[in-house]
Amino acid sequence: MNEDIKLANDLIKFIYDSPTSFHAVEQVKVILNTKGFKELHQSDKWEIKNNSKYYVTVNDSAIIAFVTGEGSAEQEGFKIIGAHTDSPSFSIKPDPEIVQNSYLKLNTEVYGGPILNTWLDRPLSLAGRVSLRSGNTMRPKTKLVNINKPLLIVPNLAIHLNPKVNGGIELNKQKDTLPIINLVNEKFESDNYLLKLVANKLNVSPYDILDFDLFLYPYEKGCILGAEEEFISSPRIDDLAMIHAGITALSTTIPTSGINVMACFDHEEIGSTTGQGADSPILDHILERIVMSLNKNKITLASKSREDYFRALANSFFISADMAHAIHPNMPEKHDPTNKPKINGGPVIKINANRKYITDSVSAAVYESICKDNSIPVQKFVNRSDMRGGSTLGPINVSHINLRSVDIGNPMLAMHSIRELAGVKDQMYIYKSFKAFYRL
Ligand code: ZN
Repeated sequence: MNEDIKLANDLIKFIYDSPTSFHAVEQVKVILNTKGFKELHQSDKWEIKNNSKYYVTVNDSAIIAFVTGEGSAEQEGFKIIGAHTDSPSFSIKPDPEIVQNSYLKLNTEVYGGPILNTWLDRPLSLAGRVSLRSGNTMRPKTKLVNINKPLLIVPNLAIHLNPKVNGGIELNKQKDTLPIINLVNEKFESDNYLLKLVANKLNVSPYDILDFDLFLYPYEKGCILGAEEEFISSPRIDDLAMIHAGITALSTTIPTSGINVMACFDHEEIGSTTGQGADSPILDHILERIVMSLNKNKITLASKSREDYFRALANSFFISADMAHAIHPNMPEKHDPTNKPKINGGPVIKINANRKYITDSVSAAVYESICKDNSIPVQKFVNRSDMRGGSTLGPINVSHINLRSVDIGNPMLAMHSIRELAGVKDQMYIYKSFKAFYRL
């Protein structure tokens, strides 16, 4: 099997095993543990050494991994890649059971911005995190759960009852997108149906489940697609493709100098404003603790160590890695007239005059040079001037840490569909560019 296909299949498996941000962090830990990374806890005292590998998780759904090299942190700085673990979905509301016309349905709330109609008629399953009684009120025990079988579906309305459906219809997020999970009779008492199902899967008593973060996900696994195996068709390519490329590069590259960091944030899809999102001080705090711990034998004054931290930041670079839009085969007019990223045309540098993307000419030049010096093709994305477009981690992150930064990502189609489409070759290109960055 060629290397590109092997990497794409690794990604498809990684995504399949990561139905939620909690599971993505768990899978990242599996990769890091096999490569000898050591887990740090935020509440412990850190003893960080040169030429060593570590990671720290935040709220089970974000993870920051790093590898220290030779040389002083303040002179060599950090090489950081950031990406996000979450994807658009539906979260299960408390007390979710609804019995109506013999159907047992679950009440859900939309998470982020999915293309709603792509969620219809798909076998769905349920996964997430459950909080359990532990004997310590302040610290419930947490467990991840994945029901991991076709369990629910949101059926379409037949075209005969909805003749205008192909003209486009608006789905109501409260009424039209609730999944069915069972057929029951009218006397059915729902009586914690879902909790019992989850408790059964976890082998615990429903009484011990205090609360949950549960999400729907499409049950079907991704695949490689196309006459020449060009494409990756899978859920959650945005942004698990960048998490996978970044973690694979970090865990297989020995830094030449400085400190390599992979920051996997949660909650990008809902604005990043949580304790484990990019709009929080987590990366700032962890980077500062790394410098303090590395330098603690060199110096005694706390104020001086802070200066070392700021010097390290001045010598650092941040790649914000989130997927980008490839030109659409049937709607090319939706794209900029001169910048048209193509699938398998290489990583895309994202540019916006109003800084919805953090890229400027200097940071674009850095990433472009990394690609060109390593024979990796590179492309540019700019929105049509009459389209608002999206934003991502880059501008949010620099509002907390002043870092030279670039926004990049691989070209893809159908972003936020239940099944997205990206390029097999692009995954290898971006992985190679991350390795080259970490080796600088
Ligand atoms: Zn994204």
